[in-house]
Amino acid sequence: MKTQQFVVIGLGRFGSSLAMELMDLGYEVLGVDINEEVVNDMSEHLTHAVVADATDEEVLKSLGIRNFDCGIVAIGDDIQMSILAAILLKELGVQTVVAKAISMLHGKALSKLGVDRVIFPERDMGIRVAHQLVTPNLLDYIELSKDYSIVEMTVPQCLNGKTLSEVNTRARYGCSIVALHRTEGVIVAPTAMDQLHAGDIMVIIGSNSNIDRFESEAV
Ligand code: ATP
Ligand code: ATP
Ligand code: CA
Repeated sequence: MKTQQFVVIGLGRFGSSLAMELMDLGYEVLGVDINEEVVNDMSEHLTHAVVADATDEEVLKSLGIRNFDCGIVAIGDDIQMSILAAILLKELGVQTVVAKAISMLHGKALSKLGVDRVIFPERDMGIRVAHQLVTPNLLDYIELSKDYSIVEMTVPQCLNGKTLSEVNTRARYGCSIVALHRTEGVIVAPTAMDQLHAGDIMVIIGSNSNIDRFESEAV
């Protein structure tokens, strides 16, 4: 299969971080920014980086934008630019278009234009950090729906050496541990006799209320 190709429009803090991570993950990335200095700084880190105005249709065509699998509009502050770039990527036929929004209304406009995925990095990071601040062992979480989540939590000292059956997580708290990460490797789908080690990372799935209960009573 051919390597997926990404085009990142706008190489500010968000766009450049996203672009470099995609490179690290082994994908091809074209970076586009209107600011020459920004492009010079990024050119050695990306497959290609070009100075261009992403609201200029002819320029985008000449870059072969329609051949990209995914386009990310990482222009935030200038809503007009962001919206125009998003429309052009969609119109030129980029398969998946993702755009960063700085406000709910900006996000709504992007969705109405047919942007496949709108992200709110500042809002989402704020929510994430709030959760981590009030739940000290919480490393990360994914919301599956309003009521269910997957969370990553560090195994505290008080559970060190206990087996899952001793903690009785599923029967007692209604949460399943789907994986345990430790320095030696990952145990996927651990069973009743697997032991927790302090410092391991448990990946837990359950309803939010059950996860909260497990976290406050057992952890
Ligand atoms: P971040 O919040 O990610 O740090 P920023 O605040 O530095 O970004 P933004 O205004 O969100 O800047 O824009 C991100 C980048 O998008 C900037 O480097 C800017 O030069 C670039 N940019 C703005 N308009 C265009 C455009 N029409 N075409 C291409 N790039 C653009
Ligand atoms: P279950 O029907 O919940 O799987 P079980 O009666 O089949 O339980 P075991 O699989 O032997 O019993 O596990 C005993 C107890 O250990 C379970 O009731 C559960 O509380 C806990 N347990 C085992 N594996 C896990 C896991 N991956 N995550 C959370 N708890 C577990
Ligand atoms: Ca910004």
